[in-house]
Amino acid sequence: MLKVADIETFYGPSQALFGVTLEVAAGEMVALMGRNGMGKTTTIRSIFGLTPASRGTIEFESQNIRRLPAYRIAKAGLGLVPEGRRCFPNLSVRENLLVTARPGEWTLAKVEALFPRLEERRAQMAKTLSGGEQQMLAIGRALMTNPRLLVLDEATEGLAPVIRQEIWRAIRLLKEQGQATLLVDKSLSEILPIADRCTILEKGTVWDGKPAALDSTVRDRYLGV
Ligand code: ATP
Repeated sequence: MLKVADIETFYGPSQALFGVTLEVAAGEMVALMGRNGMGKTTTIRSIFGLTPASRGTIEFESQNIRRLPAYRIAKAGLGLVPEGRRCFPNLSVRENLLVTARPGEWTLAKVEALFPRLEERRAQMAKTLSGGEQQMLAIGRALMTNPRLLVLDEATEGLAPVIRQEIWRAIRLLKEQGQATLLVDKSLSEILPIADRCTILEKGTVWDGKPAALDSTVRDRYLGV
């Protein structure tokens, strides 16, 4: 479904990615891992055309998307939940969800069933939600676009444990429903049981395999745990 091959990305003169390669197949949940600053967010920004890659290839469903503008990439069927959970602060929860809606399996009712808190707070302005609720709203908004591939960047970062659990429960449900997902998160104990594959970055891809093969040598070397 998504094939990223050997991409290199720069911020001005400074190179952030040195040959990142990763794949997500239909129905797969792939974890993108690596220590801080190793390029996980930059990889996602490159996939979405926000910080375009200067070299390498990015294909989504056999279409070359590397040089497409960001809005065309989203339209092609990729949904992004960025770091920092962006919502429209002065729209209600329900308006935030409806404004991104595209026809498909994910409807308002289905998103509200996944996150009952969003239904409870449907008339509330997004800016009055807690951080965790805003994160749920950000995920809900991405699902309302009915993406064939969902990309979550640090969806549980900085949230209270009880909210993290709620979000992980939703992510596990997405996995059961066969939603193809690329996931960045530091919580190995949550990721490893559900990921089909892990791709580890150290400026470029340095390891790719099934979670069961991610032994202590690999963890010590690339994840610092
Ligand atoms: P973290 O886990 O801390 O979020 P990350 O793996 O997502 O890190 P990136 O945020 O992609 O890593 O950063 C990769 C490299 O690019 C780092 O060296 C970082 O300093 C650099 N970088 C990121 N954003 C910019 C920017 N806007 N301008 C210049 N350099 C940047």
